[in-house]
Amino acid sequence: MSSPDSDAPDAPRPAHPDTIAAHAGVSPDPANGALTAALQLSTTFEHNADAQTPLGFLYQRHDNPNQQQLERVLARLDGGARALFFATGMAAGAAVLQALPPGSHLVIADDTYFGYRALIARFLAPHGLRHTVVDATDPDAVRAALSTPTALLWVETPSNPRLKVCDIATLAALAREAGARLLVDGTFAPPPLQHPLALGADIVLHSTTKYLNGHGDAMGGALTFAANDDLAAACYDVRRMFGSSASPFSAWMTLRGLRTLPVRLERHCANAAAVAAFLAGHPRVAAVHYPGLEAHPGHLVATRQMRGYGGMLSFELHGGREAALATARRLQLFTNATSLGSTESLVEHRASIEGADSVSPAGLLRLSVGLEHAQDLIDDLAQALHA
Ligand code: PLP
Repeated sequence: MSSPDSDAPDAPRPAHPDTIAAHAGVSPDPANGALTAALQLSTTFEHNADAQTPLGFLYQRHDNPNQQQLERVLARLDGGARALFFATGMAAGAAVLQALPPGSHLVIADDTYFGYRALIARFLAPHGLRHTVVDATDPDAVRAALSTPTALLWVETPSNPRLKVCDIATLAALAREAGARLLVDGTFAPPPLQHPLALGADIVLHSTTKYLNGHGDAMGGALTFAANDDLAAACYDVRRMFGSSASPFSAWMTLRGLRTLPVRLERHCANAAAVAAFLAGHPRVAAVHYPGLEAHPGHLVATRQMRGYGGMLSFELHGGREAALATARRLQLFTNATSLGSTESLVEHRASIEGADSVSPAGLLRLSVGLEHAQDLIDDLAQALHA
């Protein structure tokens, strides 16, 4: 029987992400019939005397079987022509920036992951990458920023940590008019919650460290391209030459994790909605940032372009920094830890972790809502807010 992950030309090609994910890396091995993909750790592969590679592999830093297997599944889940897997989400994002022509201009949303903003300002601007920071929820501001010739418009939706939602289809049209490419960091809303390429984006970026792996035990990043074009080829070259490839083990773990992605996301979304509703009614809470709440400024756009509002939210406390830190200290089920998208719930005071350049409000706590029972999470928040 052919599996949906099979490369056979006559293999059934189910379009539904649940089915693609459930069969990720599951395809009978012709050598022994094993269903689950084997882990291939070899750093080198036999080639002909003239360095031709009859089986397509030369050296692990260039490509390896586990990585390619994962990339095929990612491309299908995102609806793209090609995906590339990297050692981390940072490495994936850096590859796009390094692949742009020297002196390029970049327009970047103000609430993108702080690591990318630091990377651009500290490491790439000194090498000639110019950038304009913009509120990507405001199409007029984006149009104005794009009046400078621009190679790339970079947005994140929902954003980290304020859960700002920008309209991907509108921004894709603006980018196209301006001759720029659109990259969407979809780490907070992986497929099947959001499909940026179907809305006109050129590249989707994922920190697979988060929901795609989903178990907090493998780093990784991915780029999925709408077209297998010159930028995709340049990013592949950057990965090969800068050595930002992931280990086969990370690829194998990520493929294993993403088999349950759609079902995990259902619970993440349901739990986050319940937690957001509880927080929105709490007298000590000044604001809740969750696109599933009707009061959220991006609610209508999110409802149009997402299939669920995700498992991430943040909230601000009356009493600012001290109240936020005291609440974070009192939480027992939510662990104070960075990262997100794993089975267990996490809390983080973003201003503390982001440091001097942080644009996060001082009284904001970010929650990665996990797979526990929603009532247990709400009870924990209730006790932490009550004291
Ligand atoms: N994008 C977002 C939205 C993130 O939150 C992060 C990390 O937290 C990254 C990208 C970077 O990913 P990684 O930590 O895998 O390098």
